This record gives sequence, C-alpha cells and structure tokens, in this order.
Amino acid sequence: MPLIPLRVLLDHAAENDYGVAALNVNNMEQIQAIMTAAQETDSPVIIQASRGARAYSNDAYLRHLMLAAVELNPDTPIVMHLDHGNGPAACFSAIEQGFTSVMMDGSLSEDGKTPSDYDYNVKVTREVVQKAHAAGISVEGEIGALGGIEDGHGAGLSEEEAREHLTDPAQAEQFVKDTNLDALAVAIGTSHGAYKFKKKPTGDVLKMDLIEEIHKRLPDTHIVMHGSSSVPQELQDIINAYGGDIKQTYGVPVEEIQRGIKNGVRKINVDTDSRLAMTGAIRKVFAESPEQFDPRKYLTPAREAMKEVCKARMIAFGQAGWAGKVPIKTCREMVDFYKK
Ligand SMILES: [Zn+2]
Repeated sequence: MPLIPLRVLLDHAAENDYGVAALNVNNMEQIQAIMTAAQETDSPVIIQASRGARAYSNDAYLRHLMLAAVELNPDTPIVMHLDHGNGPAACFSAIEQGFTSVMMDGSLSEDGKTPSDYDYNVKVTREVVQKAHAAGISVEGEIGALGGIEDGHGAGLSEEEAREHLTDPAQAEQFVKDTNLDALAVAIGTSHGAYKFKKKPTGDVLKMDLIEEIHKRLPDTHIVMHGSSSVPQELQDIINAYGGDIKQTYGVPVEEIQRGIKNGVRKINVDTDSRLAMTGAIRKVFAESPEQFDPRKYLTPAREAMKEVCKARMIAFGQAGWAGKVPIKTCREMVDFYKK
C-alpha cells in the first residue's frame, strides 16, 4: 500500500465519525512504536515530522524509515505529514521528499514564533495549496496561534499571549474560503509541550465550545487540534519516581478530545505523551540497572511504553478497526479530485 494523502483519510474519518492521532517522530524507535500500535489495533495512521525532527534526523533517514514502515505494513494506510511548515519553501521541500501532506502554518511568521497577520497567512497558505493540490498533496493550515514550547514545532507564545490568539470562528470561515485548504488547525486554548494547564482544564481555559461553533460554520472542513497530549499523571509520576523533575501539569483530557471528535475534529496532534512515555521507561532502566550500557536495553522498553500510549489514543479516538476500510487513493489520483 502506498503512502496516502491526509485528505483521503480525514474524509473517511468524517464519514465514519472518528478522529485520527497524528503522532510525531524523530527516529526509528518512534516509527516502530506507532506502526506496532497501528498493527495491534488495526488503525490507519498519521505520522508527522516537524521542522525540528527534519533537522534532527535528516530527511533521507526519515524518508527511508517511512518507506520501511510502508514495506513492513502493507495493509496499513499511512499518511506522512509535515508538522508546522514555517514557509512555502519548507512545504515544497517536504513534498520533494515524499511527504503526502504538509502543514503551512502561516499563523506565525517565518521565524515560527511571531504571530503574523491574516493577509500573510492567506497568501502563504494559498500558495502552498495551489502547488500541493496540483500534485495531489493535502494541506493543513492554521488560524489563531497556539502557545507553548519553541523547538521548531510550533508557536512559542506564552499562555497569556496565546489566549489573545484564539481562533475567531468568522475569520476561520473566511480563511477556508480564501485558501481552499483540506484541514484547519484551530487555537482553542491548548499549547504545545508538557506545560499546558496549571490545573485540570475547565471551559474557561479549554474552549471546546469554540470547536462547536467553528464546526457549525464549516461542517465540511476537517478540524485539527494541536497540543493535544493528555500528559497523563502516571507518566509524570514514573519520570519523577526515577529521578526526573516534571513539575505538576495537566494536559487535554481524552474525553474533551472525544467531544471534539463529535464536532468535526479529525486530526489530533500528540507528541508530548510519547516523549513522556519513552523518558519514563528509560529513567526506570537507568535507575534500576545502572550497570546497563547497551542502548537496546533501554530503547526496547521505551519503544514499548510509547506503543502503549499510541494504542490507547488510537482506541480512544476511534481510528482502531478502520485500517482495512480506508479507500486507498494515491496523490496522483487526488490530482483529478482537486481539478474538479
Ligand atoms: Zn502544533
């Protein structure tokens, strides 16, 4: 089975009322964790790489790891997505590398941290949509801007700044008309990284009602939730029990994401939970077996821990069981779809 474009998978998810976790990767163990989770739950998957991941791993390694995933999992629909492209050039180079979907994040300027203006966002997103669609590649855009870590992964706004950049539903509607994108990332109070909320989020900080309003205005647009790790307490506890120092923090509860899925959310970005799971497993080995020095001795449990998190999300978001039912369309076939 070839890599498929994001649009094909999200159209199927919308028809069948499920969401799909978009899981970030930087290395072989993470790709293996995701693919094993997909196998064990019969899930289609979105694997994404950020600008930081591309710099860390090198596109050639990423591309070949993805091709290995395709070769070893012939029955699993796989989307290879660029997370937070910071300009048209980044998106076009990803397309050259075989990505089947790109995010043009024009909500920020090219530095990846300064909020841009609407006209800039439309201009760069439309430019990417035109070229990408001509090649059958899907495009995600973003309106509003998220807070959180600044590591080539997304916005570096503070929690307070981010609150001023929540998505305006009327502007979201206009943005989709102006750009013709496939999926729309919205800012509803989540942020990137582990430190999302200081207490379990309620409706005043996590604006799920905004999703409902956006979905009413844009019933045919696939909504994307960024910064949607749940930051489970047990993963924080494992890290801290073995010498780590994660300050108490709260993520996006899985039940809130499920509410989003009922209201048009089709792609849910999860990265921090994978990082926490791997780090906890590695710390445990280091603490309990300080004599070990074979990387396989700690990367094996790390990979297993990430797999378990991925499986839990795949089941919770509803993508489990659908792998064999997603229609398989290549980017080439999508060229004609976009011409219409
Ligand atoms: Zn993001």
